[in-house]
Amino acid sequence: MTVSSREFVYGKFSDFYSNPSTAIPSPALLDQRELGFLLFKERIMLRHKGFSDISDLKLFLAEAVPSDVYHSCAYYENPEAEMDKKGWLGADLVFDIDADHIPTSCDKLHDEWVCSKCGFSGKGVTPEACPICEGQKFDTKTWSCELCLESAKEETAKLIDMLGKDFGFSDKEVHVFFSGHRGYHVHVENEAVKTLDAMARKEIVDYVTGLGLTISKGGIKGPKGKGASEKFFLSDFAWNKRIKQGMRKFISTASADDLKNIGLKRASKVIFDNKELILSRCIDKGFWDSVSKVKLETWKKIAEHVKDLESAKIDTVVTTDTHRLIRMNGTLHGKTGLKKVEFPAKHLTDFDPFKEAVAFKEGAVKVVVSDVPEFKLGGSVLGPYRRQTVEVPTAAAVLLICKGRAEVAS
Ligand SMILES: [Zn+2]
Ligand SMILES: [Zn+2]
Repeated sequence: MTVSSREFVYGKFSDFYSNPSTAIPSPALLDQRELGFLLFKERIMLRHKGFSDISDLKLFLAEAVPSDVYHSCAYYENPEAEMDKKGWLGADLVFDIDADHIPTSCDKLHDEWVCSKCGFSGKGVTPEACPICEGQKFDTKTWSCELCLESAKEETAKLIDMLGKDFGFSDKEVHVFFSGHRGYHVHVENEAVKTLDAMARKEIVDYVTGLGLTISKGGIKGPKGKGASEKFFLSDFAWNKRIKQGMRKFISTASADDLKNIGLKRASKVIFDNKELILSRCIDKGFWDSVSKVKLETWKKIAEHVKDLESAKIDTVVTTDTHRLIRMNGTLHGKTGLKKVEFPAKHLTDFDPFKEAVAFKEGAVKVVVSDVPEFKLGGSVLGPYRRQTVEVPTAAAVLLICKGRAEVAS
């Protein structure tokens, strides 16, 4: 990033935080939380800060102009003390759904990674380790397109459904946010979850990701003895119900190839040719063995496949970390210049992050763009641009510069 680009972005962030009309909602019990800031100039993380109220924090933001603002999910007696002296009182249950963790059809088109050790590069999702030298550090160039965020949204919808129906959290307790970059955050604020330790949170993670869920011949294996029968069986609760609904959805839309691709042989044709009968008799009425050529093994294979479709792909380490810092609602993301914003869970389907999260709504700026696919921002469609100088709305200029795709034109 050139000096003038950095100054331009810094100036915009500074305007944002010093503008009295900028709304930054206070998280619950702000005075019990640790605050952390990534500073523009020093590029260091300032941690273990405490604020008694939101107006003090706003003054600090206007002065320090951080590129990123975080608060702890945890509540502490002394948020400013060293980690082991803070006095942990509890923590919200948080979930991070990020396009980085979801394989999408578009990631090969717009994401690249280069191994920091040997320089080997590739497209798509960054591997855990370099296939050549096993190095684990990479320089990445990612982009969040509509498709990426749409996949993240689908995972979020599955998670929210489980939190409400299977765990019984109320709408008021489940807070949904666009992260400002490549996904969504879900925070559960509830007295019962507040004091859960990392192990208990891991159990919740396993549930929503479907980890350890065994589909036996008798359907989903329940506690001792249950499901031990030789008949396929699914109840109408929790994962059993999710699998059943998922099977219905999968079979009703599957092509003959879809059925073959999950490992079905002769049964694929029988199912494809008798969809209505299979749906009503086997799935809806539970007579799983009533179609002679569709046997237990077939149901098991379909259920296994559906389990993957119905589980929610979350970033598991975020949920189990009881000291985690998470981006603060209403603040800017340093990689995009977009805001983290909260919205009602019931509006998830219609939520447009490329509109609702835009912070800089006025003016236009001339930038030199290296390479960017077509993208949507603030209601307009921009690009694709490749090695050209263009005038774009301020929000787009900030986004392109923050993503390393453009510099301010001199
Ligand atoms: Zn390497
Ligand atoms: Zn994409």
